[in-house]
Amino acid sequence: MSEKSCLFCRIIAGEIAGDLLHQDDKCVVLRDINPQAPLHALVIPREHLESLDDASQKDEALLGHLLRIAARVANEQDQAENGYRTVINTGAGAGQSVFHLHVHVLAGRPMHWPPG
Ligand code: AMP
Ligand code: ZN
Repeated sequence: MSEKSCLFCRIIAGEIAGDLLHQDDKCVVLRDINPQAPLHALVIPREHLESLDDASQKDEALLGHLLRIAARVANEQDQAENGYRTVINTGAGAGQSVFHLHVHVLAGRPMHWPPG
């Protein structure tokens, strides 16, 4: 999918509205439109990478930043004490539906393992 038609690129560009919890020079954090838990946020790099599988060595610092922001959002939303889950779906077979890398942050209800 081209960046022009990518949903998350369009939200980042301000062409489509999103409920943003955080933004910085490397990423934005958006509330998921179809939340699977009381807190369900998406940490999305500003740079268009299709998936984790497209990340390379040059992206190592960015990947670390996404995880640190995921933890910060969980803490800021007062969800750290009872635990939170971070998920990256990679590929349609793993449940990826938007092909712009993102980290899900889920919290506020009991989480089961293994995930479905
Ligand atoms: P994934 O299935 O891992 O690719 O996750 C994509 C997520 O994006 C899903 O949880 C969707 O609910 C969410 N989503 C889709 N469209 C929007 C939107 N316009 N704003 C916020 N979240 C969205
Ligand atoms: Zn994109």
